[in-house]
Amino acid sequence: MSFDKAVALTAKLSLEEKVAFLTGHDFWNTVQNDGIGLRKMLLSDGPAGVRGEFWDERDNSLNLPSGTALGSSWSVQLAKEYGEILAKEAARKGVDVVLGPTINLHRTPLGGRHFECLSEDAMLTGALAASYTKGMQALSKGACPKHYVANDFETDRYNVDIRVDARTLHEIYLRPFEDAVVQGGAWTIMSSYNRINGTTATENELLNNPLRSEWNFDGVVISDWTAVRSLESAKAEQDLVMPGPVGPWGDALVAAIRNGEIEESLIDRKVIRLLVLAQRVGAVGEDGVTPAAPVRHNEIAVDAVAFARRAASEGSVLLENDGILPINLKAAGKVSLSGHNASAARTQGGGSATVIPKTVITPLSALKAELGNSLSYSIGAVVQVGVSELPQKTLMNPITGNHGVHVEFLDADGEVIYVEERLGSNLLWLGALDVPIPIAQAIRLRTVYTPLETSEELFGFATVQPTKIHFDGELFFEKHLPVETDDPFIPLMDPPFASKKYQFTAGKSIDIDIFVDWTNRTGLQAAAQNFIFGLEADASLGDKLIADAAADAKDSDIAIVVVGTNSKVESEGLDRKNLDLPGRQNELVEAIVAANPNTIVIVNSGSPVLLPWRKKVRAVLLTYFGGQEMGNALVDMLTGAAEPGGRLPTTWAEKFEDVPITNCDAAEPGNHVTYEEGIHVGYRAWLKADTKPAYEFGYGLGYTTWSIETLEVPVSTAAGQDFIAQVKVTNTGSRAGKHVVQIYATRENSAIDRPVRWLVGFAEVRAAAGESKLVEVKIRGREFANYTSGWNYEEGDFELHVGSSVSKLEASAILTIG
Ligand code: BGC
Repeated sequence: MSFDKAVALTAKLSLEEKVAFLTGHDFWNTVQNDGIGLRKMLLSDGPAGVRGEFWDERDNSLNLPSGTALGSSWSVQLAKEYGEILAKEAARKGVDVVLGPTINLHRTPLGGRHFECLSEDAMLTGALAASYTKGMQALSKGACPKHYVANDFETDRYNVDIRVDARTLHEIYLRPFEDAVVQGGAWTIMSSYNRINGTTATENELLNNPLRSEWNFDGVVISDWTAVRSLESAKAEQDLVMPGPVGPWGDALVAAIRNGEIEESLIDRKVIRLLVLAQRVGAVGEDGVTPAAPVRHNEIAVDAVAFARRAASEGSVLLENDGILPINLKAAGKVSLSGHNASAARTQGGGSATVIPKTVITPLSALKAELGNSLSYSIGAVVQVGVSELPQKTLMNPITGNHGVHVEFLDADGEVIYVEERLGSNLLWLGALDVPIPIAQAIRLRTVYTPLETSEELFGFATVQPTKIHFDGELFFEKHLPVETDDPFIPLMDPPFASKKYQFTAGKSIDIDIFVDWTNRTGLQAAAQNFIFGLEADASLGDKLIADAAADAKDSDIAIVVVGTNSKVESEGLDRKNLDLPGRQNELVEAIVAANPNTIVIVNSGSPVLLPWRKKVRAVLLTYFGGQEMGNALVDMLTGAAEPGGRLPTTWAEKFEDVPITNCDAAEPGNHVTYEEGIHVGYRAWLKADTKPAYEFGYGLGYTTWSIETLEVPVSTAAGQDFIAQVKVTNTGSRAGKHVVQIYATRENSAIDRPVRWLVGFAEVRAAAGESKLVEVKIRGREFANYTSGWNYEEGDFELHVGSSVSKLEASAILTIG
């Protein structure tokens, strides 16, 4: 990469060309300029898969376990591999920059994008973010740590003003970004939607200081999609406006430069940074000739699916186990499985992070493959809300004769102007370049559906456009669902839905013909569209579903229940109101355990939920949104082929009333949310309040046991100097395993407000049964600093404690600073 070359190329561009380069060419690409041999750069979500340019089931993506699972691994090595695998996915899909990792903090468990983020601790988040970034960029794909900054919840995300003091901002919320930039060398970062202390992120001085001035960031600040809302923002250190082609800069910016309102040198800086990025990702021709667009191909990297499976076990946390796990399931007799998420597993959270995997291994499909007829399944309680797409093999395209759906795009006269042959019934057009979304006035979808079972079902659709569904030529259902949000992305990501009962007969085909009226569309709806049709689970059968599942459990030797959340409570664009499992899942677990004491519960949520029955069951295993291999990983863990390797990166509450930080609804006048807890976030807040959670930060069981014997640190270090701590650890159990040693600091009689304890270092250790290891943990001098108007160091004694969680401390030592 050459800075000089970027400067030289910038000098060749006209003002119009430079300004054009600063707004996206379209939804996902930057502008091409053949005059300087520059091709488009493709940016794509991110962060737990790489969607690519199209959101389309014909263009699949690897779906890795979500951020909370990566955070739970406490593994810098796994984070690096995670970044590498995504870089390979990016290469496969012609993507230059992956929009991830998401490194906002788990300030409150209510945050709707909690599942995407890594931890409630800034240092743990920063270490994993830096490693993810390095892994990805070593393979020439740019990472984009997001969203800078204090974008820790979703309510009113475009306008909310976060009031946060300088110390808290620097020590807590900026810290992961600092690590991603300074340690990880990130080539881009994404500025967020919200305001920070009165100024929106895309215009905020934080883009200059500390990002450029202190951290020497030489990369590109990409806006969150539509986050740039003024010409004024061009004066800030905001570089790229996404998406394009329309934005607030463009001609207005050219005019402002021409009339002297904005200096051209400000714009040049942005262009140079973009051209540095272009060189890093190979988008500028060495010889002045525009490079060809990267070749895309269909084959997922050979190690990718195996990695997804391993990452799912590494990131799962065993919360309870009375010894029932691991279990030889094949020799366990009859196994009953229940829970909606066992069949409709959530392998990823909702919103822009969603990718479309080719194959998803659900708990039901993996356990069925393992156990065959000795496994029975019942849904137990309805969890998933909305209309689920129909299995592709049940749909036949009446025009091609293949599986799928024939989609026609019609003009105002009803003439067909474009056709797609789709594979499934969940369709989203967002940045689909060739498809005439803006001009089409309607779509018509046709398929022949052959149900697999005879049953009465709720058949319906989801979209905010007027819809008519015909079955065998007769009108079955007609509705126009209202838009009930100001957030333009929600109707696309999580559309309203409606359904109606129909009696289906197994094997009896139905001609389905759907007409969706696309006239009168404005805003984002005019540029992007979605349509889902399929079945909705019938929650009105509640008592019967629970009774059937309990009867089945009673008749079995082992009962496994999969509980979890759904897209209505864990998704981009919304926050949760409480930590309850949706629907009647708590009643389901109580009924199952009453029927069969040998109950194992699997928790399929991306964020903390309350588990009121947790001490009544024999084991609780938290798999998070475990990615496309979630089912296989689950079988690996249940049987002991793999050990759940996770430790909680976030505190799990016993009761909602105990949660120390829940304010995220801009209730204060002026649309503010004040981070009044200051630096006491996460476990620090729990320790300060002296409240015992259900499961503390750093906690997690494995299949072996450990003892941590000694901690040795240098007697003294200079302020700010890094050092090595040595920890003696022994695997005291009977099988090989993984442990995470965690080092916390305390400071008695500090002159400043300090957390009761705070994390300063950690390391994963793997040892054979009976083996002892001396683990070296690198600790950065910075962990002892505090921020006022710069970084300061208190001299004197700090006590260091090593343990297996924030409250299980096993050895300590004194470190003198200064
Ligand atoms: C999200 C970003 C995402 C972008 C592009 C936004 O709504 O906040 O995380 O990268 O959309 O999809």
